[in-house]
Amino acid sequence: MLLEPPVKAEIGIIGGSGLYELPGIQNIREIKVYTPYGAPSDNIIVGELAGRKIAFLARHGKGHKIPPHRVNYRANIWALKTLGVKWVIAVSAVGSLREDYKPGDFVVPDQFIDMTKGYRPHTFFEGGVVAHVGMADPFCNHLRKIILKAAAEFPDIKIHDKGTYVCIEGPRFSTRAESRVWKEVFKADIIGMTLVPEVNLACEAQLCYATIAMVTDYDVWAEKPVTAEEVIKTMNENVNKVKKLLPRIIELLPPQPDERECSCCKCLETAVL
Ligand SMILES: [Zn+2]
Repeated sequence: MLLEPPVKAEIGIIGGSGLYELPGIQNIREIKVYTPYGAPSDNIIVGELAGRKIAFLARHGKGHKIPPHRVNYRANIWALKTLGVKWVIAVSAVGSLREDYKPGDFVVPDQFIDMTKGYRPHTFFEGGVVAHVGMADPFCNHLRKIILKAAAEFPDIKIHDKGTYVCIEGPRFSTRAESRVWKEVFKADIIGMTLVPEVNLACEAQLCYATIAMVTDYDVWAEKPVTAEEVIKTMNENVNKVKKLLPRIIELLPPQPDERECSCCKCLETAVL
């Protein structure tokens, strides 16, 4: 960070595929944040939503220009932290690895499996300070509960309260053999390409982070022929639902994370140094 940004935000929203903007934000300022890791995926939209100061960042940039393996995750998390963000609500499109997590459903994962290839810069600790951050429970449980509480108020949103997200490198999709491994051997529930290292960088930055994973399709294990039109239709419906859900989550967020319910904000205190 070279310059102190003139604006502050308390809640960060990282929009995934299909979610490049949020309607209803008041007093918008679009700002460029400089980080030691280079530029975030896009300018950050700072403004007020549901009476709270928020910062919105499109993970893939506006117009989806950056593929999952090229996202500058460190710059994105650093930029949000620099703005004063404490809560991060990440939104992403995923495939389902189980029959009962249907296209159109939402999942709030509680675990992940990292199957990225190690090409993505994935830590802020590169020497000087060595820290091994605990990730037994990688998501903020306090934030997860608030997301679930908010979603319960919308009859058209079917949301699953847990799930294991397997993160693959991409940008290609899995083979059928790989998909069956994630499903049957790993017992993972959903699959995507962007959770890692976003979630662990958020942890290192002591942010309260949770993901709303929106199911667009069954992964290839199911051998159900799906057309691109069907996937795009489901994705658009999901994005419309999450645009309704996010303001309600923001309304329910307390000013500060409840330390009894989350350990995110002090994870460095318990890190192995
Ligand atoms: Zn937390």
